[in-house]
Amino acid sequence: MSDEKAIGYIKRHLESGRMAEAIEISKLTGVPVSKEELKSYLHQYLEKGWMAKAKEGSKAAGIELKNEVLAGYIDKYLADGRIYSVIEASKITGTPIPKERLVAIGRECLLKGKLNPGLEAYALVEETPPEEELITCGKKCFEEGQLYLGLEAYKKANMSPPEEELITCGDRCLSNGSPAPGIEAYKKANKTPTREMLRACGEKCLLERRTDEARTAFVAAQKIEETVKARPIEIRETSFQEISGEIEESWKGIGPKACLKCKNESGFKERYFILSRCPENREEEEQLEELMKKRHGVEHYYIAVDVFGDDRGLINSAVCGKCGSQDVFFDF
Ligand SMILES: [Zn+2]
Repeated sequence: MSDEKAIGYIKRHLESGRMAEAIEISKLTGVPVSKEELKSYLHQYLEKGWMAKAKEGSKAAGIELKNEVLAGYIDKYLADGRIYSVIEASKITGTPIPKERLVAIGRECLLKGKLNPGLEAYALVEETPPEEELITCGKKCFEEGQLYLGLEAYKKANMSPPEEELITCGDRCLSNGSPAPGIEAYKKANKTPTREMLRACGEKCLLERRTDEARTAFVAAQKIEETVKARPIEIRETSFQEISGEIEESWKGIGPKACLKCKNESGFKERYFILSRCPENREEEEQLEELMKKRHGVEHYYIAVDVFGDDRGLINSAVCGKCGSQDVFFDF
C-alpha cells in the first residue's frame, strides 16, 4: 500500500469512529498518526454523541478521557434532545439521569415530530407518553412526509389518522419525489392523487436518477389514466325532489334566472341529470355535449361540481316557458 493510500484509509477509519482500527493500520503501514490528531478526533466523537466510540478509541490510543469530562457531555446531549447519546453516555459514565429530565426530553422530541427518540425516553422511565403528544408528533411527521412514523404515532395513541393529514403527507411525499409512501398515504385516505402530481413526482425522481421510483410514479399515473378512460360518464335524469335531500345547502338556490332570448324571467321548465363523474377535459366535455343533445335533446346546461360531495356532477337545464329556448342564464 502506498503512503498516500494508507493515509486516506486511516483517515476514513478515524472519521467513522474506528480509531482502534486506524491505529492498527498506522502500525502496519508505518504511516504515523500524531497523538494530537487522535485527541482531536476523540473530541469530535464526543461532539457527535459517539461516547462509546470515543471511549474505545481513547483506550486504543492510550489517551485518558476523564469521567467528569464525559459526564459534562450528558448535559449537552440532553440539551440537544439526543436521547440515544444520553442513554449511552449515562451507561458508560454510570451517571443516572433524573426521571423528570427524561420525561421532558421525551415530550420535546415528540412535539418536534421525533417519534422514536421520544418513545425511547418515555420507555426509560417506564411511562406512557400522553395521547396528545403522540398525536402532535404524528401530525408533525405527516407534515414532513414521514408516513410510516406518522402512522405509528397515531397507532400508539389508539387513533386513526385524519384524512386531511394523510393527504397532506401524501402531497408532501409526492412533491419530495417519494412516490411509494405518497401513493400509500392517499390510499389510506381512500383518495387518489392526480395524474399530474404523480407525473411531476416521476419527473423529479428521474432528475435525481432514481429510476425505480420514477417508474413507480409513472406506472401509477398511467393506471389512473386507464381507470378514468375505463369509466365512461353515465347520465341519469332525475328530479329536484329526488336530489334535494342529497345536495349541499348552498347549491339549492341555483337555478334559471333569465331567458337569454326573450328576457323572460319566470316560468322555466327545469330538468336535472346526475353525472356519474364530471368531465375531465375538453374532449370529454364535447362527448357529454353530444350525448346530452342526442339522447335528451338538451343543448344548453349548467354543470355543478362538488354538489354531492363526491365525484358526481349535477346537470341543470331549463326551457323558457315563453319562447321555448334553452338558452337560459343560471345564477344563485
Ligand atoms: Zn324565452
